[in-house]
Amino acid sequence: MTKRLYYDQPSLLEFDSVVEEITDSSTEPSSTAARPAVILRESAFYPTSGGQVHDTGWITLGAERLRVAEVADAEDGRVVHYLEPPLKPAAEGDRPSRGTIVHGSVDPERRRDHMQQHTGQHVLSAAFIELYGMPTVSFHMGEDYCSIDLATAAVTAEQVVGAEKRANEIIFENRSVMIRYVTRAEAEKLGLRKLPPAERDELRLIEIADFDLSACGGTHVSATGQIGSILLRKSEKARQGIRVEFVCGGRAVSTARRDYSALTEAAALYSAQLWDVPNQIRKSFDDLKAARKEKEEALEQLAEAMAAAALKAAPEVNGRRTVVRSFSDRDTSFAKLFAQRATRTGLPVVALVASKVDPPGLVFAQTPGGTSDMGALLKQILSSIGGRGGGSRDFAQGGVPAGCDVERLLQDAAARI
Ligand SMILES: [Zn+2]
Repeated sequence: MTKRLYYDQPSLLEFDSVVEEITDSSTEPSSTAARPAVILRESAFYPTSGGQVHDTGWITLGAERLRVAEVADAEDGRVVHYLEPPLKPAAEGDRPSRGTIVHGSVDPERRRDHMQQHTGQHVLSAAFIELYGMPTVSFHMGEDYCSIDLATAAVTAEQVVGAEKRANEIIFENRSVMIRYVTRAEAEKLGLRKLPPAERDELRLIEIADFDLSACGGTHVSATGQIGSILLRKSEKARQGIRVEFVCGGRAVSTARRDYSALTEAAALYSAQLWDVPNQIRKSFDDLKAARKEKEEALEQLAEAMAAAALKAAPEVNGRRTVVRSFSDRDTSFAKLFAQRATRTGLPVVALVASKVDPPGLVFAQTPGGTSDMGALLKQILSSIGGRGGGSRDFAQGGVPAGCDVERLLQDAAARI
């Protein structure tokens, strides 16, 4: 088993060790790419586990600096370091082999970020327990944000703000975060926030002074002030209850910066103050709704006027007028409005209308109760060109393939009446 230096020295980022095993290509868990893998006698690198993401960094020997891209737990308890570049052939030297002394360097920024997020999670989970009795059932650390799942049916906006406030109090009080080891039997008497499944006899406990005690194998800051601050984000229903997203420390700043930039851009578009943006958006929605309504009314009036003019010009045959019209600048829904207006004057009318606007379509209508069958007529016309559509005796509508000669289709239909 690899000796895990981060258990007792979470702030140790530089260490010397000895290569126990090295393979040229091994497939890391998160990728299908095969990479060289190194196992050391001891390591300060944290492997992905318990919701916390792995460290990255470098393993140096001589002049060779090898990038540690991923770190994982092997089933036998060893820590596997996956390296970025392919290893040089043994003949070129500076290639680690079993027994080589190497120097490990953990990426300090990434580790600090993980310690802030992870310790922040302990504080937040404890705050949700203390205030509302909501236990945390899982923890996820992502690239942008972290989340916990709470075993509860609902969380109100006030509870989110309350837990955030309490967690920040604990952070501002700069309480010490201590590591200690106890037996399982001892742990059971201590009233841990969360007791891990019964596997190990010795448990590593993380204690936030007078606030939280839980078993955890991760890396944590040594005092809560180092978390910086905690900002709660979205909360939503999840499989296990309610998922609450949060960011701590540097991430809280970068998230707030990103939100501020987006809001500033939106405010500039409206020439408004930041806090007035929601109001401006609401106003825009209302304006848009009114404009749509106006447009609909105008189109109806236009269809009505055009239908009246077309009716006047249409010849009357056996007491019935047939209006044939194709639009190259109006869509099928306008063709429909036009056909409806033309056939609702009380006079016997057949309207054969088309729109050439993509997607092109046909609308056949007659004065309700007329002697023809519009549905059947449309089916006949469409069957010759592979179009789709249908309707009733008085009204039918369909789509025709692009590039069809709709004028010819209308003439065809007029001839069949
Ligand atoms: Zn932890």
